[in-house]
Amino acid sequence: TRLDPKTLPTVPRGIYKVVIDPGHGGPDPGAVGIGGLRETDVVLDISLQVSKFLSTKGVKVLMTRNKEIDLDLPPRVVRANRSRADAFISIHANASRGNRRDVNGLETYYYTGYKGHNLAKKIHQEIIKVAYGSPDRGVRRSRFFVIRRTDMPAALVEVGFVTGRIDSRKLKQANHRQKLAFAISKGILNYLKEAG
Ligand code: ZN
Repeated sequence: TRLDPKTLPTVPRGIYKVVIDPGHGGPDPGAVGIGGLRETDVVLDISLQVSKFLSTKGVKVLMTRNKEIDLDLPPRVVRANRSRADAFISIHANASRGNRRDVNGLETYYYTGYKGHNLAKKIHQEIIKVAYGSPDRGVRRSRFFVIRRTDMPAALVEVGFVTGRIDSRKLKQANHRQKLAFAISKGILNYLKEAG
């Protein structure tokens, strides 16, 4: 099948470490969208699957959280920086101002540097391929705390709008979340492969 980890890019086993940061958690559900679809649930599910895919490829994964707990931004950064990981990826879902259902699409952020930009680009290229019908909002620069304060190349992925008519319908499907997880994993592996 298309989601067979064997079809993911191969990197040398046991040498890379990646931090996966599911946004929000616990009392902070993040964005809440159509039909009560919660960002925290969407991004935790995707993150756990990314972790699983990367682990099968021999990449060490540190998750900032792996369940519904309250976790501020500074401890996420402290954990990441202590880990001396090769890359940091924060996973989020979006909400539009005024909960506009016509606002949909995927975007990937980096803060600075060639490597951060490249990490964001590699992930974005893959998630766009599995999000048919959702607008490509591009790779963008931002000063989000977790990508600004982490020491390693960092990217923040917005997998779609829980408030959007097109995106919310897809994000509530387990099958789509799995495709996104596979795509994010593929992007990370492509980045590691090229970074050497
Ligand atoms: Zn968020």
